[in-house]
Amino acid sequence: MRRASGFPAITCRGVASILIPREGWVMKDKRVLIVGGVACGGKAAARLMRVDPRADVTVLEKGEYISYAGCGLPYYVGGVVKEYRDLMTTPIGVVRDENFFRKVKHVTVHTQHLATRLDRRKKIVTALDLRNGEEKEFPYDKLVLSTGASPLRPPIPGSDLPRVFTLWNMPDALAMRAAIDSGKVKNAVVIGAGLIGMEVVEALHDQGIQVSIVDLCETPLPQMMDREFGNLLRAVLEKKGINFFGGEKVLEIQGCNGEIKSVKTDKREVPAEMVLMAVGVRPNVGIAREAGLALGSCGGVIVDDHMRTSDPDIYAGGDCVEVKNVLTGKPVWQPMGSVANRQGRVIADNIAGLPTTFKGVAGTAIMKAFEYTIGKTGLTREQARLEGFDAEAVTIVDSDTPHFMPGSAAIQVRIVADRKTRKVLGAQVFGAGRADKRLDILVSAAAGGLTIDELADADIAYAPPYSTALDPVTHAANTLKNKLDGLMVSWSPSELAEKIRKGENPVLLDVRSPDEVKAQGTLPYETTLIPLGQLWDRGSELPRDREIIAFCKISVRGWDANSILRRLGYEKVSVLEGGIAGWPFELRKE
Ligand SMILES: Cc1cc2nc3c(=O)[nH]c(=O)nc-3n(C[C@H](O)[C@H](O)[C@H](O)COP(=O)(O)OP(=O)(O)OC[C@H]3O[C@@H](n4cnc5c(N)ncnc54)[C@H](O)[C@@H]3O)c2cc1C
Repeated sequence: MRRASGFPAITCRGVASILIPREGWVMKDKRVLIVGGVACGGKAAARLMRVDPRADVTVLEKGEYISYAGCGLPYYVGGVVKEYRDLMTTPIGVVRDENFFRKVKHVTVHTQHLATRLDRRKKIVTALDLRNGEEKEFPYDKLVLSTGASPLRPPIPGSDLPRVFTLWNMPDALAMRAAIDSGKVKNAVVIGAGLIGMEVVEALHDQGIQVSIVDLCETPLPQMMDREFGNLLRAVLEKKGINFFGGEKVLEIQGCNGEIKSVKTDKREVPAEMVLMAVGVRPNVGIAREAGLALGSCGGVIVDDHMRTSDPDIYAGGDCVEVKNVLTGKPVWQPMGSVANRQGRVIADNIAGLPTTFKGVAGTAIMKAFEYTIGKTGLTREQARLEGFDAEAVTIVDSDTPHFMPGSAAIQVRIVADRKTRKVLGAQVFGAGRADKRLDILVSAAAGGLTIDELADADIAYAPPYSTALDPVTHAANTLKNKLDGLMVSWSPSELAEKIRKGENPVLLDVRSPDEVKAQGTLPYETTLIPLGQLWDRGSELPRDREIIAFCKISVRGWDANSILRRLGYEKVSVLEGGIAGWPFELRKE
């Protein structure tokens, strides 16, 4: 066994301070060892070299590649990113490899080195050099565990066939790309409709491959979005000719002569020459567990606000740790690159003596689905209620820029707030318009503890190319204020569907024009059409003993209809949130 590190000479503890620096070297006497060299580890190493001149940093990475953009892998698979190397270069095109880290950052990187043991008493990590089987010891003063997570591979019969993939690292992406380039893949099945699965769906579809998705849940992104928003995405998939088989279980991947032929579910057989298993990931905590570091209820390493583990000389970050949800105060596991990078920076600062803290996550995620954006932050109303909040929510549909601007497109915003404190608890966005910037405003509101009133009052930037005079976020916040203040009663599409299912018999008052109804379709129930302009005159046609739920294309005229009906003496009036544009279920064509 050999003892090694980034020091220019033997690095037993205690002798480091008497080493004579080589030319160009700064004297360094704090050995920082980082296990895992992609997102969190790469960021921690780079930041350390900026803020701690005494740190002698060594990175152990079991793979061949370091510091690459894992989140970009689907875009390489889909051909948007042409060269895999582009995922590992700096903005000026320099590849971030061992040489780059040594020369530019003064960080020693050992790729293909698998850390196998951690001796906390001796402060030594043992690693296996995967190229030759040699065992080496790496002493440290401060250790960073950034070992990430691993994709689950359920023991489905046939999952060992060639072209059954997971997409987690660069070799996975290279293998998928090669399979696509072979021209043998005409049909692909993606098992699991989470973020990674859904990103790959688009990547495969764009290569002309017929894609089918199978998930145990009824709608896509089941862990991330509620059913309504999941259904909106499902409709997008269907429009693109992608099969979504929700509520189905994969039983077997069937093959013939070593080639995949189909995927058998409990309901059907789907042709496939390629399968992606994207059914979830779990944190890599083997070394931490064996070394006796405290693990939490979500399975990740427990860290404090400074990203320190139960051992004060060991930090951990990225997918291998669990963190606090800032809205509930409870531990959560949020394996995201955004989080891993922020944590890497916090770890480096703390090792350098800068007492930076990581407060937690709001639970933010975003995804591109063709020309649509879908994202969320914080809690859904149902999650918030389960957490004990008196949560209320509203959904609105609006344009991202004024209708007179070219390219103006619709977005849907759902905001959740607590009735008692009026604090924003979460939000979801969806649409072909610029939903991402709205989500980021809502992240700041939820994570920053803003009330719905403060959000409604936010001085959001406006000029016609960027926004409407009242931004969709302001519109949503004002609508939720109306609801919390008792000025408006409204129902989400799911709530309306549930009312009908339970046998309630509201009047569904459509205040659009007949032409709009023809062009846009209508609700799959009995509706009453009175265009808004005729409502003052014809309102009395409506029964007084039934609830009247008004709607239009986006329900702004529906809200006006409520005011007219109240003036006409109707008391039980309400609005269908989002109107026809926000209806996530099937519409009836007139
Ligand atoms: C296809 C895909 C798309 C994604 N898209 C997004 C996105 O859009 N937005 C987002 O926020 N996140 C996204 N993510 C998630 C994001 O990539 C991860 O959350 C992030 O990379 C985690 O960083 P990390 O440093 O904890 O782990 P990683 O970046 O996975 O790095 C961990 C490294 O540790 C190494 N390692 C593990 N054990 C050992 C050991 N014992 N010895 C040596 N080395 C070891 C591994 O080889 C690995 O390279 C995506 C992930 C994938 C796979």
